[in-house]
Amino acid sequence: MRIVLLGTSSAVPTLTRGLSATALVREGDVFLFDCGEGTQLQLMRSSVKRSRIHSIFIGHLHGDHLYGIAGLLSTLHLDGRETPLNVFGPEGLQVFLNAAFRTSDLQFEFKLTLKELPRGFRGRVLDEEDFYVEALPLDHSIFCLGWRFQEKDKPGVFNLERAEELGIPRGPLYGRLQHGENITLSDGRIITPDMVLGGPRPGKSVVYCLDTQFSERSIRLADKCTTLIHETTFGPDAIDMARERKHSTMEDAARVAKEAGAQTLIATHFSTRYDGRQIAQIGDDAREVFEPITIARDLLEVEI
Ligand SMILES: [Zn+2]
Ligand SMILES: [Zn+2]
Repeated sequence: MRIVLLGTSSAVPTLTRGLSATALVREGDVFLFDCGEGTQLQLMRSSVKRSRIHSIFIGHLHGDHLYGIAGLLSTLHLDGRETPLNVFGPEGLQVFLNAAFRTSDLQFEFKLTLKELPRGFRGRVLDEEDFYVEALPLDHSIFCLGWRFQEKDKPGVFNLERAEELGIPRGPLYGRLQHGENITLSDGRIITPDMVLGGPRPGKSVVYCLDTQFSERSIRLADKCTTLIHETTFGPDAIDMARERKHSTMEDAARVAKEAGAQTLIATHFSTRYDGRQIAQIGDDAREVFEPITIARDLLEVEI
């Protein structure tokens, strides 16, 4: 999987930082988390193909996470898109989008499925063969959902040598064992999958927590995840402001990552009061709490 940071500013854009949007690219499919104004341009500057967007997840309805979606959907319509598209977000999203589309008399040719999630919603919003996405409310000034993109565990690696030793004829029987079925050989011996498969390979997970103050909920959502993407609006000079506005400092995010047992943290959503050098310094301080922090910048790509 590949994470592409499209916009890393909070509240308002700067000349070097766009508003919140992050793409997760998995097997060619794109999952877009938030869609601040300017996301379309950032997509064009990045390696992410907008035609491959599978689903869009809007965590909350603050403008810096939302105002780009109407324009992006309009462009997908003008592209002649035919593939269906899912949009997930808090209640109120429908009113916002309908106002935009009715005002412009825009009728989509492709199937647009908008799933509004009521206040307090928690649970799976997408459940596909090899991954799922779940949502959990965070702790922000308005209803805000965090997301967990979770790959399902894959079966263990097939041990060819062992299969040959056991005298299993090559062919479809191998596939049946890989799919977890027992098989019976012509001599009557029963072979179970654990005799030829290694241990299951755990799926990777990406957790997205924007916007929120430090919260046990983020820790729960990020439990043992591969990568946590967490907002880090403020530094140690503005702790009071962070508490008041229900945002996090980078140290808060580092604590969430540490307590959740996350493997890595991507810090993003920076206040315009900091320039790149100051953010790097804030990152160095936060690494005393949790070492593996990647400081996001626009168009940065992270392989996980
Ligand atoms: Zn924000
Ligand atoms: Zn917000």
